[in-house]
Amino acid sequence: MAATAAAVEREADRLTELDSPIGDADHGSNLLRGFTAVTAALESERPDRPGAVLQLAGRTLISTVGGASGPLYGTLLRRAGKELGEAAEVSDEEVRKALYAGVGAVAQLGGAAPGDKTMLDALVPGVAALSTSYRAAGNAAENGALATVPLQARKGRASYLGERSIGHQDPGATSSALLLGALADAAETAGDGEGGA
Ligand code: ADP
Ligand code: MG
Repeated sequence: MAATAAAVEREADRLTELDSPIGDADHGSNLLRGFTAVTAALESERPDRPGAVLQLAGRTLISTVGGASGPLYGTLLRRAGKELGEAAEVSDEEVRKALYAGVGAVAQLGGAAPGDKTMLDALVPGVAALSTSYRAAGNAAENGALATVPLQARKGRASYLGERSIGHQDPGATSSALLLGALADAAETAGDGEGGA
């Protein structure tokens, strides 16, 4: 979560710029507000289990981010946290399964599928590549985000633009690639990035 918050802080302006032609220019500021609140909540409540950390982060995003991305990312993290349960330590395989379930919950909540030009275009290939490595997941998500450029948006605010949404990279897919990249950075810092998840 610390690596994620740092990545969001670094890239917030770019995310807001991407949300300007096909949205309402608030994606970066939405996530910055959300992850700043996540950092504060984790510092004050200090949950000591991975599952509890993710659930608190998810709840905080839902309560602090007004845009579509807050409930969607919040649901991802809450669901992943529930999957991890009360365990004091979790394996890479458990993390992989938890994130897979979290992305499934995003698809269910938002009713989107890959190809609709949303965060799922990065998240779905990203979590699929977790079985190779955290870095492979970050790279697959990055490629998925880049591949949203020629797509027409079918969900969310950008879908109101119809064909005019073509030719722009989706901000949510871009932030999803950022989040999975931050996970890979954190895993490598923990000396854990070489193996499969
Ligand atoms: P808002 O669109 O409410 O201003 P944000 O700008 O924070 O919210 O987030 C926009 C991003 O949310 C989009 O780029 C897209 O990736 C994602 N998004 C929007 N609707 C959906 C949905 N139904 N399912 C998945 N992702 C979605
Ligand atoms: Mg927006």
